[in-house]
Amino acid sequence: MSIVAGIETSSTESVEHFDVLIVGAGISGIDAAYYLQKDCPGKSFALLEVQESFGGTWLTHKYPGIRSDSDLFTFGYGWKPWKGVPIATAEEILTYLDEALDEQDIRGHIRFQHDIKDATWSSEDKQWMLLAIRGDNGEQVEFTCNFLWMCQGYYRHSEGYTPEFPGAERFKGLIVHPQTWPEDLDYKDKNVLVIGSGATAATIIPAMAEDCAHITMLQRSPTFFHAGENRNDTANMLRELDVPDEWTHEIARRKILHDQKTITYRSFNDSQALKEELIAGTKSYLPQGYDVEKHFTPSYRPWRQRLAFVPNGDLFEGIASGKASVVTDQIETFTENGILLQSGEKLEADIIVTATGFNLSALGDINFTIDGEALNFADTWAHRGILFSGIPNMAWVFGYLRTSWTMRADMVAEFVCRLLNHMGDKGVDVVTPQLREEDRDMPERPWVDPHNFNAGYLARLMHIMPKQGDRDPWLHTQDYYTDKDTLPAADLDDGTLIYR
Ligand SMILES: Cc1cc2nc3c(=O)[nH]c(=O)nc-3n(C[C@H](O)[C@H](O)[C@H](O)COP(=O)(O)OP(=O)(O)OC[C@H]3O[C@@H](n4cnc5c(N)ncnc54)[C@H](O)[C@@H]3O)c2cc1C
Repeated sequence: MSIVAGIETSSTESVEHFDVLIVGAGISGIDAAYYLQKDCPGKSFALLEVQESFGGTWLTHKYPGIRSDSDLFTFGYGWKPWKGVPIATAEEILTYLDEALDEQDIRGHIRFQHDIKDATWSSEDKQWMLLAIRGDNGEQVEFTCNFLWMCQGYYRHSEGYTPEFPGAERFKGLIVHPQTWPEDLDYKDKNVLVIGSGATAATIIPAMAEDCAHITMLQRSPTFFHAGENRNDTANMLRELDVPDEWTHEIARRKILHDQKTITYRSFNDSQALKEELIAGTKSYLPQGYDVEKHFTPSYRPWRQRLAFVPNGDLFEGIASGKASVVTDQIETFTENGILLQSGEKLEADIIVTATGFNLSALGDINFTIDGEALNFADTWAHRGILFSGIPNMAWVFGYLRTSWTMRADMVAEFVCRLLNHMGDKGVDVVTPQLREEDRDMPERPWVDPHNFNAGYLARLMHIMPKQGDRDPWLHTQDYYTDKDTLPAADLDDGTLIYR
Protein backbone atom coordinates (compact mmCIF):
# COMPACT_ATOMS: atom_id res chain seq x y z
CA MET A 1 0.00 0.00 0.00
CA SER A 2 1.04 3.59 -0.50
CA ILE A 3 -0.55 6.98 -0.13
CA VAL A 4 -1.01 9.13 -3.20
CA ALA A 5 -2.70 12.52 -2.79
CA GLY A 6 -4.23 11.26 0.44
CA ILE A 7 -5.76 8.15 -1.17
CA GLU A 8 -4.68 4.65 -0.23
CA THR A 9 -4.08 2.64 -3.36
CA SER A 10 -3.03 -0.91 -4.07
CA SER A 11 -0.11 -1.39 -6.40
CA THR A 12 0.50 -3.92 -9.13
CA GLU A 13 3.67 -5.99 -8.96
CA SER A 14 5.32 -5.31 -12.30
CA VAL A 15 7.03 -2.09 -13.32
CA GLU A 16 7.15 -1.43 -17.05
CA HIS A 17 10.21 0.24 -18.51
CA PHE A 18 10.45 2.49 -21.61
CA ASP A 19 13.28 4.47 -23.13
CA VAL A 20 11.00 7.49 -23.26
CA LEU A 21 7.71 8.27 -21.52
CA ILE A 22 5.54 11.03 -22.92
CA VAL A 23 3.09 12.67 -20.54
CA GLY A 24 -0.13 13.69 -22.31
CA ALA A 25 -1.80 12.68 -25.56
CA GLY A 26 -2.73 16.15 -26.77
CA ILE A 27 -1.37 17.80 -29.89
CA SER A 28 2.17 17.99 -28.39
CA GLY A 29 2.28 14.40 -27.10
CA ILE A 30 1.23 13.01 -30.49
CA ASP A 31 3.83 15.24 -32.13
CA ALA A 32 6.54 13.96 -29.78
CA ALA A 33 5.61 10.37 -30.62
CA TYR A 34 5.76 11.10 -34.34
CA TYR A 35 9.28 12.59 -34.11
CA LEU A 36 10.53 9.85 -31.79
CA GLN A 37 9.48 7.19 -34.27
CA LYS A 38 10.97 9.11 -37.20
CA ASP A 39 14.22 10.41 -35.70
CA CYS A 40 14.96 7.88 -32.96
CA PRO A 41 13.70 4.58 -34.40
CA GLY A 42 14.15 1.73 -32.00
CA LYS A 43 13.49 3.74 -28.84
CA SER A 44 10.67 2.20 -26.86
CA PHE A 45 8.06 4.69 -25.70
CA ALA A 46 4.54 5.14 -24.36
CA LEU A 47 2.21 8.07 -23.87
CA LEU A 48 0.45 8.29 -20.51
CA GLU A 49 -2.80 10.23 -20.55
CA VAL A 50 -5.24 10.83 -17.69
CA GLN A 51 -8.27 11.32 -19.94
CA GLU A 52 -10.22 8.58 -21.70
CA SER A 53 -9.19 9.75 -25.13
CA PHE A 54 -6.63 11.84 -27.02
CA GLY A 55 -6.73 15.51 -28.01
CA GLY A 56 -6.07 17.34 -24.72
CA THR A 57 -7.49 20.85 -25.03
CA TRP A 58 -9.77 19.81 -27.90
CA LEU A 59 -11.26 16.98 -25.88
CA THR A 60 -11.57 18.88 -22.61
CA HIS A 61 -13.48 21.86 -23.99
CA LYS A 62 -17.04 21.21 -25.03
CA TYR A 63 -18.64 24.63 -24.98
CA PRO A 64 -20.83 25.73 -27.91
CA GLY A 65 -18.89 26.69 -31.00
CA ILE A 66 -15.47 25.52 -29.66
CA ARG A 67 -12.91 26.20 -32.38
CA SER A 68 -9.28 27.16 -32.82
CA ASP A 69 -8.38 30.81 -32.84
CA SER A 70 -5.29 30.22 -34.93
CA ASP A 71 -5.23 28.75 -38.44
CA LEU A 72 -4.70 25.03 -38.83
CA PHE A 73 -1.92 25.42 -41.41
CA THR A 74 0.34 26.53 -38.56
CA PHE A 75 -1.59 24.94 -35.66
CA GLY A 76 -1.56 21.63 -37.54
CA TYR A 77 1.68 19.68 -37.77
CA GLY A 78 4.45 20.39 -40.26
CA TRP A 79 4.20 16.73 -41.26
CA LYS A 80 0.47 16.37 -41.86
CA PRO A 81 -1.26 18.64 -44.38
CA TRP A 82 -4.36 20.49 -43.32
CA LYS A 83 -7.04 20.21 -45.98
CA GLY A 84 -9.84 22.33 -44.60
CA VAL A 85 -10.59 26.00 -43.95
CA PRO A 86 -8.09 27.77 -41.66
CA ILE A 87 -10.14 28.03 -38.45
CA ALA A 88 -11.32 24.59 -37.33
CA THR A 89 -13.82 23.27 -34.83
CA ALA A 90 -12.66 21.04 -31.97
CA GLU A 91 -14.33 18.14 -33.76
CA GLU A 92 -12.31 18.77 -36.92
CA ILE A 93 -9.09 19.01 -34.91
CA LEU A 94 -9.89 15.72 -33.17
CA THR A 95 -10.55 14.08 -36.54
CA TYR A 96 -7.17 15.37 -37.81
CA LEU A 97 -5.42 13.95 -34.71
CA ASP A 98 -7.35 10.71 -35.01
CA GLU A 99 -6.07 10.28 -38.57
CA ALA A 100 -2.52 11.10 -37.43
CA LEU A 101 -2.70 8.35 -34.78
CA ASP A 102 -3.60 5.76 -37.43
CA GLU A 103 -1.34 7.04 -40.20
CA GLN A 104 1.67 7.08 -37.88
CA ASP A 105 0.77 3.98 -35.91
CA ILE A 106 0.83 5.82 -32.58
CA ARG A 107 -2.53 4.82 -31.07
CA GLY A 108 -1.28 1.55 -29.61
CA HIS A 109 1.38 3.41 -27.63
CA ILE A 110 -1.14 5.41 -25.61
CA ARG A 111 -2.22 4.34 -22.11
CA PHE A 112 -5.41 6.21 -21.39
CA GLN A 113 -6.83 6.86 -17.91
CA HIS A 114 -3.40 7.04 -16.32
CA ASP A 115 -3.24 9.96 -13.93
CA ILE A 116 0.41 10.57 -13.14
CA LYS A 117 0.88 11.66 -9.56
CA ASP A 118 4.60 11.33 -8.86
CA ALA A 119 7.78 11.50 -10.91
CA THR A 120 10.94 10.49 -9.08
CA TRP A 121 14.45 10.70 -10.48
CA SER A 122 17.18 8.43 -9.19
CA SER A 123 20.76 9.37 -10.15
CA GLU A 124 21.87 5.94 -9.01
CA ASP A 125 19.49 4.14 -11.39
CA LYS A 126 19.74 6.90 -14.01
CA GLN A 127 16.02 6.79 -14.57
CA TRP A 128 12.65 8.27 -13.73
CA MET A 129 10.01 6.33 -11.82
CA LEU A 130 6.45 7.41 -12.58
CA LEU A 131 3.54 6.56 -10.40
CA ALA A 132 0.06 6.73 -11.91
CA ILE A 133 -3.46 5.96 -10.76
CA ARG A 134 -5.62 4.20 -13.30
CA GLY A 135 -9.02 5.77 -13.84
CA ASP A 136 -10.74 2.50 -14.75
CA ASN A 137 -9.88 0.39 -11.71
CA GLY A 138 -8.20 2.77 -9.24
CA GLU A 139 -5.01 0.73 -9.34
CA GLN A 140 -1.62 2.28 -8.77
CA VAL A 141 0.83 1.49 -11.54
CA GLU A 142 4.51 2.27 -11.89
CA PHE A 143 6.66 2.90 -14.91
CA THR A 144 10.31 3.65 -15.32
CA CYS A 145 11.97 5.49 -18.19
CA ASN A 146 15.31 6.97 -19.17
CA PHE A 147 13.87 10.17 -20.54
CA LEU A 148 10.71 12.03 -19.58
CA TRP A 149 9.01 14.15 -22.23
CA MET A 150 6.43 16.42 -20.65
CA CYS A 151 3.59 17.22 -23.08
CA GLN A 152 1.03 17.99 -20.43
CA GLY A 153 0.19 21.48 -21.70
CA TYR A 154 0.20 24.44 -19.39
CA TYR A 155 -3.11 24.55 -17.56
CA ARG A 156 -5.19 22.39 -15.22
CA HIS A 157 -7.68 20.42 -17.27
CA SER A 158 -9.98 19.45 -14.40
CA GLU A 159 -11.29 22.98 -13.70
CA GLY A 160 -11.09 26.48 -15.13
CA TYR A 161 -10.31 29.74 -13.38
CA THR A 162 -13.19 31.63 -11.79
CA PRO A 163 -12.37 34.70 -9.71
CA GLU A 164 -14.20 35.12 -6.41
CA PHE A 165 -17.16 37.23 -7.40
CA PRO A 166 -18.86 39.04 -4.52
CA GLY A 167 -22.33 37.67 -3.81
CA ALA A 168 -21.99 34.76 -6.28
CA GLU A 169 -23.76 32.46 -3.81
CA ARG A 170 -26.89 34.63 -3.97
CA PHE A 171 -27.41 34.09 -7.69
CA LYS A 172 -30.42 31.80 -8.22
CA GLY A 173 -29.58 30.86 -11.80
CA LEU A 174 -26.80 28.70 -13.15
CA ILE A 175 -23.10 29.63 -13.19
CA VAL A 176 -21.12 27.71 -15.81
CA HIS A 177 -17.41 27.74 -16.66
CA PRO A 178 -16.65 26.96 -20.33
CA GLN A 179 -14.01 24.40 -19.33
CA THR A 180 -16.56 22.25 -17.50
CA TRP A 181 -19.53 22.81 -19.77
CA PRO A 182 -22.57 20.60 -18.96
CA GLU A 183 -23.27 18.97 -22.32
CA ASP A 184 -27.02 18.92 -21.65
CA LEU A 185 -27.21 22.62 -20.73
CA ASP A 186 -30.48 24.02 -22.08
CA TYR A 187 -30.11 27.69 -22.90
CA LYS A 188 -33.00 28.00 -25.34
CA ASP A 189 -34.85 31.30 -24.79
CA LYS A 190 -32.76 32.03 -21.70
CA ASN A 191 -30.99 35.27 -20.86
CA VAL A 192 -27.29 34.54 -20.83
CA LEU A 193 -24.50 36.72 -19.50
CA VAL A 194 -20.93 35.94 -20.48
CA ILE A 195 -18.21 37.41 -18.28
CA GLY A 196 -15.01 38.00 -20.26
CA SER A 197 -14.10 39.06 -23.77
CA GLY A 198 -11.28 36.74 -24.81
CA ALA A 199 -11.33 34.17 -27.60
CA THR A 200 -13.65 31.87 -25.60
CA ALA A 201 -16.31 34.56 -25.11
CA ALA A 202 -15.97 35.55 -28.77
CA THR A 203 -16.67 31.94 -29.74
CA ILE A 204 -19.48 31.15 -27.33
CA ILE A 205 -21.52 34.29 -28.00
CA PRO A 206 -22.19 33.83 -31.73
CA ALA A 207 -22.69 30.08 -31.23
CA MET A 208 -25.39 30.61 -28.58
CA ALA A 209 -26.94 33.87 -29.80
CA GLU A 210 -29.46 32.28 -32.18
CA ASP A 211 -31.06 30.14 -29.46
CA CYS A 212 -30.89 32.40 -26.41
CA ALA A 213 -33.45 35.07 -25.64
CA HIS A 214 -30.48 37.43 -25.43
CA ILE A 215 -26.77 37.09 -24.73
CA THR A 216 -24.60 39.80 -23.19
CA MET A 217 -20.82 39.98 -23.12
CA LEU A 218 -19.72 41.72 -19.93
CA GLN A 219 -16.12 42.90 -20.07
CA ARG A 220 -13.99 44.91 -17.70
CA SER A 221 -11.94 46.22 -20.60
CA PRO A 222 -11.97 45.70 -24.38
CA THR A 223 -9.93 43.15 -26.36
CA PHE A 224 -8.47 43.35 -29.85
CA PHE A 225 -10.28 41.26 -32.44
CA HIS A 226 -9.27 40.49 -35.94
CA ALA A 227 -12.26 39.84 -38.16
CA GLY A 228 -12.03 38.25 -41.56
CA GLU A 229 -13.34 35.49 -43.74
CA ASN A 230 -12.48 31.95 -42.73
CA ARG A 231 -10.54 31.18 -45.88
CA ASN A 232 -6.96 31.15 -47.07
CA ASP A 233 -6.56 32.50 -50.57
CA THR A 234 -3.09 31.05 -51.07
CA ALA A 235 -4.26 27.54 -50.18
CA ASN A 236 -7.41 27.90 -52.27
CA MET A 237 -5.43 28.99 -55.31
CA LEU A 238 -2.93 26.13 -54.95
CA ARG A 239 -5.74 23.63 -54.45
CA GLU A 240 -7.40 24.87 -57.62
CA LEU A 241 -4.14 24.19 -59.45
CA ASP A 242 -4.10 20.62 -58.10
CA VAL A 243 -0.85 21.26 -56.27
CA PRO A 244 -0.19 18.35 -53.86
CA ASP A 245 -1.59 18.83 -50.35
CA GLU A 246 1.88 18.69 -48.79
CA TRP A 247 3.07 21.64 -50.87
CA THR A 248 -0.13 23.61 -50.32
CA HIS A 249 0.20 23.09 -46.58
CA GLU A 250 3.84 24.19 -46.52
CA ILE A 251 3.34 27.22 -48.76
CA ALA A 252 0.21 28.41 -46.92
CA ARG A 253 2.08 27.95 -43.64
CA ARG A 254 5.04 30.01 -44.83
CA LYS A 255 2.79 32.76 -46.13
CA ILE A 256 0.90 32.95 -42.81
CA LEU A 257 4.15 33.05 -40.82
CA HIS A 258 5.48 35.74 -43.13
CA ASP A 259 2.34 37.85 -42.69
CA GLN A 260 2.35 37.33 -38.91
CA LYS A 261 5.97 38.45 -38.77
CA THR A 262 4.89 41.74 -40.30
CA ILE A 263 2.10 42.10 -37.73
CA THR A 264 4.50 41.27 -34.89
CA TYR A 265 7.00 43.83 -36.17
CA ARG A 266 4.29 46.44 -36.54
CA SER A 267 2.91 45.72 -33.06
CA PHE A 268 6.23 46.98 -31.68
CA ASN A 269 7.22 49.61 -34.23
CA ASP A 270 3.99 50.87 -35.75
CA SER A 271 1.53 50.00 -33.03
CA GLN A 272 -0.77 53.01 -33.32
CA ALA A 273 -1.43 52.41 -37.02
CA LEU A 274 -1.95 48.68 -36.42
CA LYS A 275 -4.34 49.46 -33.58
CA GLU A 276 -6.34 51.78 -35.82
CA GLU A 277 -6.52 49.16 -38.59
CA LEU A 278 -7.79 46.47 -36.24
CA ILE A 279 -10.40 48.77 -34.76
CA ALA A 280 -11.47 49.91 -38.23
CA GLY A 281 -11.91 46.22 -39.17
CA THR A 282 -14.19 45.70 -36.18
CA LYS A 283 -16.09 48.90 -36.93
CA SER A 284 -16.86 47.77 -40.47
CA TYR A 285 -19.00 44.92 -39.09
CA LEU A 286 -20.93 47.05 -36.58
CA PRO A 287 -23.93 49.34 -37.13
CA GLN A 288 -23.35 53.06 -37.72
CA GLY A 289 -23.04 54.96 -34.47
CA TYR A 290 -22.05 51.91 -32.39
CA ASP A 291 -19.81 52.92 -29.47
CA VAL A 292 -16.62 51.30 -30.75
CA GLU A 293 -14.50 53.64 -28.64
CA LYS A 294 -16.02 52.27 -25.42
CA HIS A 295 -16.42 48.58 -26.24
CA PHE A 296 -13.75 47.72 -28.80
CA THR A 297 -10.81 50.05 -28.18
CA PRO A 298 -8.28 48.32 -25.90
CA SER A 299 -5.70 50.30 -23.95
CA TYR A 300 -2.84 47.80 -24.51
CA ARG A 301 -0.55 47.41 -27.50
CA PRO A 302 -1.91 44.92 -30.08
CA TRP A 303 -0.36 41.41 -29.87
CA ARG A 304 0.48 41.72 -26.15
CA GLN A 305 -2.30 39.18 -25.88
CA ARG A 306 -3.27 36.71 -28.57
CA LEU A 307 -5.38 38.42 -31.24
CA ALA A 308 -8.76 36.72 -31.22
CA PHE A 309 -9.74 35.94 -34.80
CA VAL A 310 -13.45 36.34 -35.47
CA PRO A 311 -14.25 34.25 -38.53
CA ASN A 312 -16.68 35.99 -40.85
CA GLY A 313 -17.20 38.63 -38.14
CA ASP A 314 -19.78 36.33 -36.50
CA LEU A 315 -19.47 37.98 -33.08
CA PHE A 316 -20.17 41.40 -34.55
CA GLU A 317 -23.05 40.13 -36.65
CA GLY A 318 -24.75 38.90 -33.47
CA ILE A 319 -24.31 42.38 -32.01
CA ALA A 320 -25.56 44.06 -35.18
CA SER A 321 -28.67 41.86 -35.25
CA GLY A 322 -29.53 42.76 -31.64
CA LYS A 323 -29.28 39.12 -30.39
CA ALA A 324 -26.05 39.94 -28.54
CA SER A 325 -24.77 43.02 -26.78
CA VAL A 326 -21.63 44.24 -25.05
CA VAL A 327 -21.38 45.94 -21.67
CA THR A 328 -18.08 47.43 -20.51
CA ASP A 329 -18.18 47.90 -16.76
CA GLN A 330 -17.05 46.36 -13.46
CA ILE A 331 -18.98 43.94 -11.29
CA GLU A 332 -20.17 45.36 -7.98
CA THR A 333 -21.90 42.17 -6.87
CA PHE A 334 -23.90 39.20 -8.07
CA THR A 335 -27.57 39.48 -7.15
CA GLU A 336 -30.38 36.90 -7.04
CA ASN A 337 -31.24 37.61 -10.68
CA GLY A 338 -27.98 38.64 -12.22
CA ILE A 339 -25.27 41.22 -11.70
CA LEU A 340 -25.19 44.73 -10.30
CA LEU A 341 -22.50 46.80 -12.00
CA GLN A 342 -20.38 49.55 -10.47
CA SER A 343 -22.18 52.06 -12.68
CA GLY A 344 -25.44 51.07 -10.94
CA GLU A 345 -26.78 49.27 -14.02
CA LYS A 346 -28.37 45.84 -13.40
CA LEU A 347 -28.00 42.92 -15.81
CA GLU A 348 -30.52 40.09 -15.47
CA ALA A 349 -29.58 36.56 -16.38
CA ASP A 350 -30.76 32.95 -16.13
CA ILE A 351 -27.27 31.63 -16.89
CA ILE A 352 -23.91 33.28 -16.20
CA VAL A 353 -20.96 31.95 -18.16
CA THR A 354 -17.61 32.75 -16.55
CA ALA A 355 -15.27 32.90 -19.57
CA THR A 356 -12.53 33.98 -17.18
CA GLY A 357 -9.75 31.72 -18.34
CA PHE A 358 -7.81 28.82 -16.93
CA ASN A 359 -5.44 27.93 -14.14
CA LEU A 360 -1.86 27.75 -15.24
CA SER A 361 -0.30 24.53 -14.03
CA ALA A 362 3.37 23.73 -14.14
CA LEU A 363 4.27 20.12 -14.88
CA GLY A 364 0.77 18.67 -14.81
CA ASP A 365 0.37 18.94 -11.01
CA ILE A 366 2.79 16.01 -10.68
CA ASN A 367 4.98 15.85 -7.56
CA PHE A 368 8.55 15.83 -8.81
CA THR A 369 11.38 14.53 -6.66
CA ILE A 370 15.04 14.44 -7.63
CA ASP A 371 17.22 12.12 -5.55
CA GLY A 372 14.88 12.44 -2.60
CA GLU A 373 14.44 16.22 -2.80
CA ALA A 374 11.15 17.80 -3.79
CA LEU A 375 11.55 19.89 -6.92
CA ASN A 376 10.57 23.54 -6.86
CA PHE A 377 10.21 24.20 -10.59
CA ALA A 378 10.33 27.97 -10.03
CA ASP A 379 13.93 27.62 -8.79
CA THR A 380 15.14 26.29 -12.12
CA TRP A 381 16.56 28.14 -15.13
CA ALA A 382 15.03 27.36 -18.49
CA HIS A 383 17.51 26.02 -21.04
CA ARG A 384 16.14 27.21 -24.41
CA GLY A 385 12.70 26.99 -22.78
CA ILE A 386 12.87 23.18 -23.17
CA LEU A 387 15.21 21.71 -20.53
CA PHE A 388 15.69 22.99 -16.96
CA SER A 389 18.75 23.46 -14.78
CA GLY A 390 19.24 20.64 -12.30
CA ILE A 391 16.53 18.41 -13.82
CA PRO A 392 18.10 15.40 -15.53
CA ASN A 393 16.64 13.82 -18.68
CA MET A 394 13.47 15.87 -18.85
CA ALA A 395 12.03 18.18 -21.52
CA TRP A 396 8.82 20.20 -21.52
CA VAL A 397 6.90 21.32 -24.59
CA PHE A 398 5.62 24.84 -24.01
CA GLY A 399 4.49 26.13 -27.39
CA TYR A 400 4.12 29.64 -28.69
CA LEU A 401 1.53 31.93 -27.23
CA ARG A 402 1.33 34.31 -30.17
CA THR A 403 2.31 32.11 -33.11
CA SER A 404 0.51 28.74 -33.13
CA TRP A 405 1.56 26.47 -30.27
CA THR A 406 2.46 23.63 -32.60
CA MET A 407 5.11 25.59 -34.49
CA ARG A 408 7.20 25.30 -31.36
CA ALA A 409 6.09 21.75 -30.48
CA ASP A 410 7.55 20.61 -33.82
CA MET A 411 10.88 22.36 -33.21
CA VAL A 412 11.14 21.19 -29.62
CA ALA A 413 10.51 17.63 -30.81
CA GLU A 414 13.32 17.87 -33.34
CA PHE A 415 15.61 19.31 -30.67
CA VAL A 416 14.82 16.56 -28.15
CA CYS A 417 15.39 13.82 -30.73
CA ARG A 418 18.68 15.42 -31.74
CA LEU A 419 19.69 15.51 -28.07
CA LEU A 420 18.74 11.84 -27.54
CA ASN A 421 20.75 10.82 -30.61
CA HIS A 422 23.68 12.96 -29.45
CA MET A 423 23.62 11.16 -26.10
CA GLY A 424 23.60 7.84 -27.95
CA ASP A 425 26.60 8.92 -30.02
CA LYS A 426 28.46 9.99 -26.90
CA GLY A 427 27.54 6.79 -25.08
CA VAL A 428 26.04 8.65 -22.11
CA ASP A 429 22.79 8.07 -20.22
CA VAL A 430 22.15 11.36 -18.45
CA VAL A 431 21.97 15.01 -19.49
CA THR A 432 21.46 17.78 -16.96
CA PRO A 433 21.51 21.50 -17.77
CA GLN A 434 23.75 23.46 -15.44
CA LEU A 435 24.78 27.14 -15.26
CA ARG A 436 28.38 27.80 -16.33
CA GLU A 437 30.64 29.82 -14.07
CA GLU A 438 29.99 32.91 -16.20
CA ASP A 439 26.20 32.40 -15.96
CA ARG A 440 26.00 32.45 -12.19
CA ASP A 441 25.35 36.18 -11.83
CA MET A 442 22.80 36.35 -14.62
CA PRO A 443 19.81 38.58 -13.95
CA GLU A 444 16.61 36.60 -13.45
CA ARG A 445 13.82 37.19 -15.92
CA PRO A 446 10.29 35.80 -15.88
CA TRP A 447 9.44 32.73 -17.95
CA VAL A 448 7.54 34.95 -20.41
CA ASP A 449 8.51 38.60 -20.67
CA PRO A 450 5.34 40.57 -19.72
CA HIS A 451 6.35 43.45 -22.02
CA ASN A 452 6.27 41.00 -24.89
CA PHE A 453 3.15 39.00 -24.02
CA ASN A 454 0.88 39.74 -21.10
CA ALA A 455 -2.13 37.51 -20.62
CA GLY A 456 -3.92 37.41 -17.26
CA TYR A 457 -3.45 33.67 -16.70
CA LEU A 458 0.32 34.04 -17.10
CA ALA A 459 0.57 37.09 -14.89
CA ARG A 460 -1.41 35.37 -12.10
CA LEU A 461 0.92 32.42 -11.84
CA MET A 462 4.24 33.50 -13.30
CA HIS A 463 5.85 32.87 -9.90
CA ILE A 464 5.37 29.09 -10.26
CA MET A 465 7.21 29.00 -13.59
CA PRO A 466 10.94 28.58 -14.22
CA LYS A 467 13.02 31.69 -14.81
CA GLN A 468 15.07 32.69 -17.81
CA GLY A 469 18.36 34.54 -17.97
CA ASP A 470 19.74 37.17 -20.29
CA ARG A 471 21.87 35.07 -22.61
CA ASP A 472 21.87 32.03 -24.79
CA PRO A 473 20.98 29.22 -23.98
CA TRP A 474 19.08 30.46 -20.94
CA LEU A 475 16.50 32.34 -23.00
CA HIS A 476 12.90 31.41 -23.64
CA THR A 477 12.32 33.76 -26.54
CA GLN A 478 8.67 32.95 -27.43
CA ASP A 479 9.79 34.10 -30.87
CA TYR A 480 9.40 31.65 -33.73
CA TYR A 481 11.50 33.77 -36.06
CA THR A 482 14.50 33.54 -33.71
CA ASP A 483 14.02 29.91 -32.67
CA LYS A 484 13.68 28.61 -36.21
CA ASP A 485 17.35 29.49 -36.75
CA THR A 486 18.81 29.04 -33.27
CA LEU A 487 17.18 25.76 -32.15
CA PRO A 488 18.29 23.55 -35.05
CA ALA A 489 21.79 25.03 -34.81
CA ALA A 490 22.04 24.84 -31.00
CA ASP A 491 25.43 23.59 -29.81
CA LEU A 492 24.82 20.59 -27.55
CA ASP A 493 28.38 20.78 -26.23
CA ASP A 494 28.50 24.41 -25.16
CA GLY A 495 29.26 23.55 -21.54
CA THR A 496 25.71 24.08 -20.27
CA LEU A 497 24.67 20.45 -20.72
CA ILE A 498 26.42 18.07 -18.37
CA TYR A 499 26.52 14.50 -19.65
CA ARG A 500 27.35 11.34 -17.78
C1 LIG B 1 -10.03 26.76 -25.47
C2 LIG B 1 -8.61 26.86 -25.94
C3 LIG B 1 -8.35 27.18 -27.26
C4 LIG B 1 -7.03 27.25 -27.71
N1 LIG B 1 -6.80 27.58 -29.01
C5 LIG B 1 -5.54 27.66 -29.46
C6 LIG B 1 -5.28 28.00 -30.81
O1 LIG B 1 -6.16 28.23 -31.60
N2 LIG B 1 -3.99 28.08 -31.20
C7 LIG B 1 -2.96 27.84 -30.35
O2 LIG B 1 -1.80 27.93 -30.75
N3 LIG B 1 -3.18 27.49 -29.05
C8 LIG B 1 -4.44 27.41 -28.59
N4 LIG B 1 -4.66 27.08 -27.28
C9 LIG B 1 -3.56 26.71 -26.42
C10 LIG B 1 -3.58 25.14 -26.40
O3 LIG B 1 -3.65 24.69 -25.11
C11 LIG B 1 -2.43 24.57 -27.16
O4 LIG B 1 -2.29 25.16 -28.37
C12 LIG B 1 -2.45 23.07 -27.41
O5 LIG B 1 -3.68 22.46 -27.68
C13 LIG B 1 -1.78 22.46 -26.29
O6 LIG B 1 -1.49 21.13 -26.65
P1 LIG B 1 -0.70 20.21 -25.65
O7 LIG B 1 -0.77 18.85 -26.19
O8 LIG B 1 0.66 20.80 -25.41
O9 LIG B 1 -1.46 20.36 -24.27
P2 LIG B 1 -3.00 19.99 -23.88
O10 LIG B 1 -3.91 20.17 -25.02
O11 LIG B 1 -3.23 20.80 -22.65
O12 LIG B 1 -2.90 18.45 -23.57
C14 LIG B 1 -2.18 17.98 -22.46
C15 LIG B 1 -2.65 16.58 -22.13
O13 LIG B 1 -1.90 16.12 -21.01
C16 LIG B 1 -2.78 15.46 -20.12
N5 LIG B 1 -2.22 15.54 -18.76
C17 LIG B 1 -1.96 16.66 -18.05
N6 LIG B 1 -1.47 16.34 -16.83
C18 LIG B 1 -1.43 14.99 -16.77
C19 LIG B 1 -1.06 14.06 -15.74
N7 LIG B 1 -0.61 14.46 -14.54
N8 LIG B 1 -1.15 12.73 -16.01
C20 LIG B 1 -1.59 12.29 -17.24
N9 LIG B 1 -1.99 13.14 -18.23
C21 LIG B 1 -1.90 14.47 -17.99
C22 LIG B 1 -4.09 16.22 -20.26
O14 LIG B 1 -5.20 15.44 -19.88
C23 LIG B 1 -4.11 16.53 -21.76
O15 LIG B 1 -4.77 15.54 -22.50
C24 LIG B 1 -5.96 27.01 -26.80
C25 LIG B 1 -6.24 26.69 -25.48
C26 LIG B 1 -7.54 26.63 -25.04
C27 LIG B 1 -7.80 26.29 -23.60
